[in-house]
Amino acid sequence: MISLLDLIGSLSAGVALCLLFSKWRRQLASAEKWIIFFVCLLTLIINFIGFISWLGTTADSQIAENWGDYLQILQPALWGMFFYVVVESAQSKKLKSSEEKLRAVIENLPLALHAYDQDGRPLAWNKQAETLSGYSKEEILKNTSALALLYPDAKDQQSLLQECQKGGAKYYHRLRKLRGKLGEREVAWYNISKQFPIPGWANWCIGLDMTEQLNAQRKLEHLATHDELTGLANRTLLRDRLQHALDNCIRNDHMGALMMLDLDHFKMVNDSHGHPVGDRLLVEVAKRLTSCLKSTDTLARFSGDEFVILLEEISSIEDATFVAERILNTLSHPAFVIYGNEIRVRASAGITCFPEDDIRTDELMKNMDLALYTAKEKGRNNFHLYSRNMHRRLRRRHEISEKLRIAIDQQRLELHYQPKVSLKTNKVVGFEALLRWPLPQENALHPSEFVPIAENAGLMPVLGSWVLGEAFKQTALWQNSHMQAPVAINLSALQFFQADLHYNLDRELEMAGLNAEHIELEITETAVMRNIDHAISTMKVLREKGFSISLDDFGTGYSSLSWLKRFPINTIKIDQSFISELQYNSQDAAIVRSIIQLGHCLDKNIVAEGVENEKQKIFLADENCDAYQGFLYCKPLAAETLSQTLAPPIH
Ligand code: C2E
Ligand code: MG
Ligand code: MG
Repeated sequence: MISLLDLIGSLSAGVALCLLFSKWRRQLASAEKWIIFFVCLLTLIINFIGFISWLGTTADSQIAENWGDYLQILQPALWGMFFYVVVESAQSKKLKSSEEKLRAVIENLPLALHAYDQDGRPLAWNKQAETLSGYSKEEILKNTSALALLYPDAKDQQSLLQECQKGGAKYYHRLRKLRGKLGEREVAWYNISKQFPIPGWANWCIGLDMTEQLNAQRKLEHLATHDELTGLANRTLLRDRLQHALDNCIRNDHMGALMMLDLDHFKMVNDSHGHPVGDRLLVEVAKRLTSCLKSTDTLARFSGDEFVILLEEISSIEDATFVAERILNTLSHPAFVIYGNEIRVRASAGITCFPEDDIRTDELMKNMDLALYTAKEKGRNNFHLYSRNMHRRLRRRHEISEKLRIAIDQQRLELHYQPKVSLKTNKVVGFEALLRWPLPQENALHPSEFVPIAENAGLMPVLGSWVLGEAFKQTALWQNSHMQAPVAINLSALQFFQADLHYNLDRELEMAGLNAEHIELEITETAVMRNIDHAISTMKVLREKGFSISLDDFGTGYSSLSWLKRFPINTIKIDQSFISELQYNSQDAAIVRSIIQLGHCLDKNIVAEGVENEKQKIFLADENCDAYQGFLYCKPLAAETLSQTLAPPIH
């Protein structure tokens, strides 16, 4: 029976040997393999001898039997040794592999591990810490003043050292800057000193690199509170600062001001030079504005070409007006040069003061808006202080613009025509189309009142196109009648500088089946002066298309005589303000005389506007003026009425 066990032992030893040379072998160290090998071999020999003695068939059976007793005693010891080695080896392998796994996990964690002893000397530095800082494990572990090297902030160095001395920190996480070879990173350090106490490791943390997230977050915050183009504060931030300033002014009995600034005719810059130039101009304007302000003031871009300035502490209203003057001067001189284009900037400003005018954010915003509106209305390039009676007037303007919008939609506007008469032949040489808004007498509004309102309310593109279409149709109708003469159309400044003016004109001409030579375009001297170079190039294009051009209201726009030479115009229209006083005012008479002479020298036609009496007409005829226009001959009339009035008598 024992020998049967020997047989089983031999077989198991054989199996163990086979295993030794199979897959299992890889798990064993070479010394262990040799031990198992010898144990198995010895067991086999012993069992073999035992087996032979059991058979009792050999001559050596006695020897085998004698040895067998000893070996039978040795066998369990050998087996014990065998199993001990196998179990021990398996356990140590397991431990080693799990330790290696743990090390690999720690090494490859996307978190930086740092650990220090009680004196702040580094003990651990994983791969992520290497990547983050650019310092290798060797460089850091041998550096005794790693804290000073890695932490740019002296306070951080100090507090970390204290944590090391106290055996760990109390906080859960903290944001600290880490100075690496490639620059500073912002790291959120999670303290784990208490959770994983390792003897000798006084203070250890894992750190998550937050640099990118924090930068993105800051960028988002900046975007939410700043204007992208100029980098100035936006509405949100301004409102916030204003609220803060209002609280402050009430608490400390301070005074402040809110100023809204609008660039005059900025749209024209965009239209004539393109948006990249417009954008660059806004950036340059922002820089100049900043140079006029104190660091405690807030400059915000409100929208498009509107800027708002919050002056948090002023001692009187005059302080705010000084700032406004300084700003307007700084913006207008010298001219801006943007991508080679010289651009003159004028601005208008509206100012409201707090707590005088109000102490509510929204009300103050409205006030400055109204004050700005008034500044623009007064002729731009100036500033205006808010006053309470401003409301009424501006409300009226607003009402007018709303009614005008409806009137345009419902096509309730009309065109009247006024003849231009030759002073040489006394014959009609042309007509001027003048816009009329039929309203009850008590509400009558002149185009000189409602055209600027239409411009401000953004109604001019539609209204202007309608005027062109109507006037072209009428001109075409008159071509085969006794009314055959060129018709003049007034272009507003916005219309004149609009990039699509040529297309509009071409389209309307085509629709009316008309030639450009039958049309004269009137543009005021003041409008031309807004952007002389662009005006000249536009005029040239229009002339090439066959249109005639008149410089309207001449004498009111301060153009220099040298510019007049450069304007490719056909006609100069002397403003009616010089004509009305002609008989009594020798200076006006001298001006009119000079304009006629100068105009003729430059080969221009001269037309006098607003001629109301014979004396004026005679003066102009004597001075060799070419034509006149005025109530003396005929008031502006509806096309049909005028056509009947001017019809030749039937004999
Ligand atoms: P304007 O182009 O200088 O037009 C001449 C103005 O003088 C017209 O005023 C006309 O009615 C007025 N007028 C003519 N003869 C006499 C006169 O003998 N005495 C006096 N006191 N006035 C005379 P209106 O029609 O009120 O137009 C005023 C201005 O409005 C125009 O000045 C022009 O600048 C603008 N306007 C008129 N129609 C249009 C239009 O269709 N488009 C644009 N953009 N502006 C227009
Ligand atoms: Mg005109
Ligand atoms: Mg005029």
